[in-house]
Amino acid sequence: MSTIIPDPVIASEKLPQSVDVVVIGGGIIGVSTALFLAERGVSVALCEKGLIGAEQSGRNWGWVRQMGRDPAELPLAMQSLALWRGLNERIGDETGFRQTGITYLCTNARETAAYEEWLEHARTYQIDSRLLRPNELQPLLPGMSSGFVSGLYTSTDGRAEPTKAAPAIARAAIRAGAHVMTNCAVRGVETSAGRVSGVVTEHGPIRCSSVVLAGGAWSRLFAGNLGIDFPQLKILGTVARVGPVAGVPDMPVGGDKFAFRKRVDGGYSIAMRNANVVPIVPDSFRLFADFVPSLIKQWHELKLRIGSRFLEEWRTPRQWKLDEISPFERVRVLDPVPVERFNQNGLLNVIKAFPAFANARIQQSWSGLIDVTPDAVPVIGPVDKIPGFFLASGFSGHGFGIGPGSGQLMADIVTGATPVVDPSPFRLERFSKSSTPVSRAAINDSRG
Ligand SMILES: Cc1cc2nc3c(=O)[nH]c(=O)nc-3n(C[C@H](O)[C@H](O)[C@H](O)COP(=O)(O)OP(=O)(O)OC[C@H]3O[C@@H](n4cnc5c(N)ncnc54)[C@H](O)[C@@H]3O)c2cc1C
Repeated sequence: MSTIIPDPVIASEKLPQSVDVVVIGGGIIGVSTALFLAERGVSVALCEKGLIGAEQSGRNWGWVRQMGRDPAELPLAMQSLALWRGLNERIGDETGFRQTGITYLCTNARETAAYEEWLEHARTYQIDSRLLRPNELQPLLPGMSSGFVSGLYTSTDGRAEPTKAAPAIARAAIRAGAHVMTNCAVRGVETSAGRVSGVVTEHGPIRCSSVVLAGGAWSRLFAGNLGIDFPQLKILGTVARVGPVAGVPDMPVGGDKFAFRKRVDGGYSIAMRNANVVPIVPDSFRLFADFVPSLIKQWHELKLRIGSRFLEEWRTPRQWKLDEISPFERVRVLDPVPVERFNQNGLLNVIKAFPAFANARIQQSWSGLIDVTPDAVPVIGPVDKIPGFFLASGFSGHGFGIGPGSGQLMADIVTGATPVVDPSPFRLERFSKSSTPVSRAAINDSRG
């Protein structure tokens, strides 16, 4: 059984024969896309190989932020926050969203200077982020110990509940008319006269004119079988849950080596910030040139590790026929082993920063494989090579917060509506071998 059990979604038992759009993947991106399409009267089927929200979207920290993002993502982050604010009401369900603000604490001038630099982007978009001194931080962050020289604070950021959000959005999509199928892997896409004409699932075919691939960590493998080279690697992030603690902030707080967020059950999700494991896999060699600039920039926070994933991915077929069992049916839920040492050290660092956590004990640990692109910005757009095929993936450790806006943008692109934000920073072609990808990963926080 998976370590993370997202809230339930009652899925359809019968596969529709034909719809306008098939969405592959029931993470926050897929369910948001399905909701926006269904709300516009587009007939849509969403196929999820396991359970809704059981991979990254149910395993993340739950931070919903504009702060620290790549400028390319800021309009989408702002739009997403506008959606999150009204989402519980819009869907009549609980996503756990609360506009609490978020703070990043700094212990030295170097960290402060990096945030000062980022504030230029906040000013461009009139985001209310501010650098605060310790005396201004104290009233916002009860129980904070001394030792912090400043903090970047954004009052319009917030938090939501990973195990609740994607399932709640999926239930709303169903009420709006979407067919949502779980335990239903899509094996591949069928084309006719060069454009999308349907998908083949493990339970049979569905005819459609458009397909949105929102497969998270699986998107590169799926696209590869169609001859599309989507540069994507995976990074392991580890998280833990502790019980309720009194006298500490309601808002998510991060320092260089810790992060915490209050959960709707009253407890806290905690993690060691800037501590990610990069499993070395065959794709690490195939994509070495694409990722080397971001690897160099983020070297201090990445731990390269060769282990069982290398063999797992080595043994996974990269090509298969649609009448064969596909790799997506073999692993219903990616549930990697967490790095307990990171959680223990993360908790020690949380206690140092907020001593009221002293009696907190780790009650649950889990991890997730984060899908990353070379510039840490997602792809949201059409794949020109196959008309009717769209990609919404590569959210690089921060797709939960921009999930609703990304779903809206994808629905705009698929239906030909005016896009809610400029989609050009998210096009796939920026990675074409002829153009050199610019690595902005160092300023786009890799997680949270
Ligand atoms: C530890 C950790 C901390 C994070 N913290 C934050 C945070 O605080 N804030 C933030 O904004 N983001 C955060 N993120 C990132 C965020 O969780 C992801 O960017 C986001 O959830 C990606 O959503 P998704 O829908 O693209 O992918 P996923 O949630 O991974 O969903 C993809 C789904 O597609 C399904 N699928 C794949 N292939 C097929 C197929 N062929 N057929 C059917 N189904 C298929 C999979 O089973 C999966 O359920 C974090 C991630 C992790 C792991």
